[in-house]
Amino acid sequence: MKVVQTVAGVREALMTPREEAMRIGLVPTMGAFHEGHLTLFRTCDQECDVAVASLFVNPTQFGPTEDLASYPRDLERDKLLAEEAGIDLLFAPTVEEVYPLDFQTAVEVTQLGSILEGASRPTHFRGVATICLKLFNIVQPSVAYFGRKDAQQAAVIRTMLRDLNLTIELRVIPIVRDADGLALSSRNAYLEPDERRRALALSQALQAGLEACRAGGGTEAALATARRMLDSAEGIVVDYLAVADLDGPTLAGAVRVGSTRLIDNVLLDEEAR
Ligand code: AMP
Repeated sequence: MKVVQTVAGVREALMTPREEAMRIGLVPTMGAFHEGHLTLFRTCDQECDVAVASLFVNPTQFGPTEDLASYPRDLERDKLLAEEAGIDLLFAPTVEEVYPLDFQTAVEVTQLGSILEGASRPTHFRGVATICLKLFNIVQPSVAYFGRKDAQQAAVIRTMLRDLNLTIELRVIPIVRDADGLALSSRNAYLEPDERRRALALSQALQAGLEACRAGGGTEAALATARRMLDSAEGIVVDYLAVADLDGPTLAGAVRVGSTRLIDNVLLDEEAR
């Protein structure tokens, strides 16, 4: 696996594959790899001739009081894991490489970017859409890989690709979970054992909501069931819980457990629409 820190380095490394019309896949990440990232890498490796991953803790998608400074970083460990999972080129730029001092442009997906996560984190999707468009322009992949864990992010990117006439194919992989149901997240590393136990209420509530929907109650029962369970859960604060169209009817939630903010979602059955 080749590791490059500069945009010029990416362009050079991809010159020959591009000339040979190879299929280039890109997996954008913020590092601290877990099985969710590794599943994306393996899928990209299987489906493309050249598998590229980016590792960049993007400051513009964090709010002023969020965890940018403490976000887990371990480049050496991540390099080993990415290589093992089939990544050919890892782009790990500095902040200065991505955002020169006079950087002043942004992309905003106005409606979809302002609900749910966007309502709680007003500048988040502007940061996400802008960095993704930059990465798409730097790598120029045929296909980009995202996780359903961040369902709204994938839907925002899909909307941006459509609205700005990009021809990149979007592949979204299912949520990878721990055996007990907790969605894997780099932020799970913040959880104390007791918090880890309390955090389970989110995936359990969403699962119960899905079952209520399937039992014939539709989206209303899904929401009411999940809400009831979350409201009675100990030691977590609900940020939002809602049903929205995120590439299909989706029950999505965000909670705080101590100082850690976690998100999760389930796709409700199509007939629930
Ligand atoms: P991040 O490094 O958190 O920005 O995530 C990079 C990519 O991995 C995003 O497309 C996420 O949606 C995806 N991802 C993160 N956690 C999971 C998970 N548990 N299952 C599937 N995809 C995930």
